[in-house]
Amino acid sequence: MNIVFLGPPGAGKGTHAQRLMKELNIPQISTGDMFRRAIKEQTPTGLDAKRYMDAGELVPDEVVVAMVKERLAEPDCQNGYILDGFPRTVAQAEALDTIAHIDVALNIDVPDEIIIDRLSGRRVCTACGGTYHVSMLGASTKCPACGAELIQRDDDKPATVKNRLDVYQEKTAPLINYYEKKGVLSTAKCVGGTVDENYALVKAALNAKA
Ligand code: ADP
Ligand code: ZN
Repeated sequence: MNIVFLGPPGAGKGTHAQRLMKELNIPQISTGDMFRRAIKEQTPTGLDAKRYMDAGELVPDEVVVAMVKERLAEPDCQNGYILDGFPRTVAQAEALDTIAHIDVALNIDVPDEIIIDRLSGRRVCTACGGTYHVSMLGASTKCPACGAELIQRDDDKPATVKNRLDVYQEKTAPLINYYEKKGVLSTAKCVGGTVDENYALVKAALNAKA
């Protein structure tokens, strides 16, 4: 099954996609993670992407599409995959349609206030990639899972968060309509609640279409 996750930054796409990946035993493909890895490894794609990411802007479509095409051709994608953070523009969705058939577009609908609090309080582990909210960490700056140092992503700083939400509204939100027209959209309305509760809503939305 080929699944796309839609939703604003901080909606929980990554968290839910990771769980679903384990449950369905298909890979989670996060373009954001791929770019962060490319930046760490200082590849040409990484160096190109960094200035856009730091500003909360989208990386140009050609760059992202080329990277995703290459990834989807790998053997582990042949039984399905979960796309997390791609497509993010109508042009990307159209490019995806030329190489893949999307079975379900899972839209995670979360109010803006919740998003802003989540992103500005988000900390990520430099070693295992785990993400946490400051409210659950107390005074600790270490990863509860592996003990490594936690950091705030540059693009989670307040000014950039605002820009990412604006970019989402303008460029990515139209995809809700795009997939609805194709008859594959399913929405999970996550208004607060725990990760487990929200994941249950995501699963229900998936099962409604799958
Ligand atoms: P979030 O969903 O929390 O905003 P991601 O990790 O998905 O973060 O993406 C971080 C950044 O990487 C984006 O703000 C953007 O600059 C870049 N990026 C990731 N995926 C795409 C994409 N499909 N198209 C363009 N830029 C992307
Ligand atoms: Zn960790």
